[in-house]
This record gives sequence, C-alpha cells and structure tokens, in this order.
Amino acid sequence: MLPVIEKLLIVQDRDTKLRALHKDLERVPVEEQNCRDRMSDDEKKVAAAKAALQLVEVAIKNLELDIGTRRQSITRMKTQQYETRKNEEYTALGHEIVRYEKEISQFEDQEIDLLDKAETAKKALNEADARRKSTQILVNEDLAKLAERKTNVESQIAEISAERAALASVVEPEVLDAYDRISQRKGEAVVALEDGQCKGCHMKVVKSTVVEAKAEKILAHCENCGRLIYYAG
Ligand SMILES: [Zn+2]
Repeated sequence: MLPVIEKLLIVQDRDTKLRALHKDLERVPVEEQNCRDRMSDDEKKVAAAKAALQLVEVAIKNLELDIGTRRQSITRMKTQQYETRKNEEYTALGHEIVRYEKEISQFEDQEIDLLDKAETAKKALNEADARRKSTQILVNEDLAKLAERKTNVESQIAEISAERAALASVVEPEVLDAYDRISQRKGEAVVALEDGQCKGCHMKVVKSTVVEAKAEKILAHCENCGRLIYYAG
C-alpha cells in the first residue's frame, strides 16, 4: 500500500468518526424539543382542568349572588309587610316572598350539584397536576442526560478534530486537497479495489486502472466515481 494511502485511511477513519459525532450532535436539539413537547401536552391538560374548575366556581359564585339578592329582597319585603296597613299589599308581598323562597331553594339545589362538579373538577386538576409534575421529573432527567451527551460529543469532536489536523498535516497539500474535495461530495474518499471493482461505487474499473493501482507507484482513481483506490486483491 502506498504510504500516502495509509495516511489518508487514518485521516478518513477520523473523518468517519467526526461525521457520526456531528450527526449525533444534530439530533440533540431535536430530542430536546421532543422532551419539551411531552411537557407542553401535560401543561395543556393542566390548563384545561384549571379552566373547567374556574367555570364551575364562577357559576357557584353567581348562584350565591342570586341567592343573596333574593334574601335581601325577602328581608325588605318582610319589613314592607310589617309596615303596610293594606291587606292586599300584605298578601301580595307574601306571595312574592314565597316565590323568592322557592327560587332560593332551587338555586340551593343547583349549588349542591355544582359543588359536586367542583369537587370532581378539583380532583381532575390535582391528577393532571400530579402527572405534569412526574413528567417534569422525567423530562428534567432526560434533558440533563442530553446536555451531558452534548458536552461529551463536543469534547470528542474537539479531540478527534485535533488528531485529524495533526494526521492531515503530514499529507502533501495537493493530495489532501483532492481527498477533501472527494470526501465532501462522497463521504468516503479512499476505497479498496477488489476483483476489479471499486468499493465506493461498486463499478468495475478498466484494466489499466487495475494495473495502475496494483503497481502502487502513483495514486490511482476510479474513473467512474473519482475516488482514490488502493489495490486489495
Ligand atoms: Zn468508483
């Protein structure tokens, strides 16, 4: 094997590792977003449960206001009854008082129903909140793991990049240039030639290329894909 091919294969090994590490790094924000999405589902459910409870509480408050105003009216009408000397007015006020009392008792029945509903809504809210909290714990753990992975991958990238730079510095600049150009387009730039087939594009090369690669005098290229090839049998 040509010494330059040996050197390039080591550079290529680091490049392959770097590509995988960069891919891994790109996945980190995607996975972080997935974690946050899981959180936002639970948060939406808590918000919906809160809104449902508030609705019931407002209805109860309104009923209590209605009951209060009717009670005040009854008190007022009882005073009027006490003060009036007209029998008709006394009776009319009496009817009104009965009507209001009936309404109050209806409102109170409704209030009992609503209090039950409020109880159920509170339970649902507590459950949604508990779920959100346990999801938060899991999500926090996952986010911490992702942050750790990111740091890890970044330091590996830094380490291997430094190695790669040192390894590449001993390759002649024009060869390295050619390698880099092919590598940017195809990924693997140096591949084996086996049974007359380029292992990069899996095409047969012409006889003269096989001879050239086997001679190991100059760098041979696959005429189909342009990759650098070395004779491997
Ligand atoms: Zn090829």
